[in-house]
Amino acid sequence: MSIFAGIEAGGSKFVCAVGKISSNKDKVEIKDKIIIPTTTPDETIPQAINFFQSIHSSTPLKAIGIATFGPVDLNTSSPHYGYITTPPKPGWKHYNFVGTIKEAFQIPIGFDTDVNGSAIGEYRWGAAKNLDTFIYVTVGTGIGAGGMSQGKPMHGLIHPEMGHMFIPYDSNKDNFLGVCPFHGNCLEGLASGPSIQKRWNVKTASDLPSDHPAWDLEADYLASAFANCILILSPQKIIVGGGVMKRKEIFEKIRVKTQTLLSGYIKHEKLLNNIDSFIVPPALGDDAGIFGAIALAEQAFKKSYP
Ligand code: ZN
Repeated sequence: MSIFAGIEAGGSKFVCAVGKISSNKDKVEIKDKIIIPTTTPDETIPQAINFFQSIHSSTPLKAIGIATFGPVDLNTSSPHYGYITTPPKPGWKHYNFVGTIKEAFQIPIGFDTDVNGSAIGEYRWGAAKNLDTFIYVTVGTGIGAGGMSQGKPMHGLIHPEMGHMFIPYDSNKDNFLGVCPFHGNCLEGLASGPSIQKRWNVKTASDLPSDHPAWDLEADYLASAFANCILILSPQKIIVGGGVMKRKEIFEKIRVKTQTLLSGYIKHEKLLNNIDSFIVPPALGDDAGIFGAIALAEQAFKKSYP
């Protein structure tokens, strides 16, 4: 029996789950799961460890995958590999995440960003099955994007931070200055959930009716970002999740605006005539992250025992 564990570490909650991967490997079944509030490492991490230990003592876990908020150090030759480095979240600066979990379990540990984790989940069991180059974008409290290029997660100097890309901004159309503490009106500053709340003075984006101008503006910003991603990375698909994207009507607006921006320049059937299957919601829904963490565990196990 192949039992793998996953931690989807978000800024507000940790989802910890144990999943069984079927012998033909095309399915994962969640056997046990808990959700822990993300407070400080001293409070949150022991709860996660206790949960996994209670299972590990009777059914040995093969590996643990961690898909976490960041920024993180993914460079395996760095002395700080496996650390959360300089997050905006207090208490987690220079936190040795992999080291702490490894010390408790001595089994292979997979590690990546939360969005790369979701991308890998969709690649293994969701909307990116059979693709090798695609991106996964989440539009919620922040905007994050990760993905795979030719079957490998996108890492590099550090890892992509597409959520903070700079997009056309016209102060005559939108005089809101943006909420990003680093850049003001980068993509996250203009189009994240908090930016919608602040610009339109609502408690949550979902309070806005479907015909509110907020959604056209939101689609403008996301379409600019997606057009840039298409031009730079040539993804085979863009998977978009996160709280803001629960407003399903926005997908159609984004698709049309992305096509308009590209003006037929990229001559591929998927963009010209089949964009409905190109910019899509995650097939795994809200489970993309935790499935991805389990897929990271599976990968780490394979790497240790090829
Ligand atoms: Zn920014």
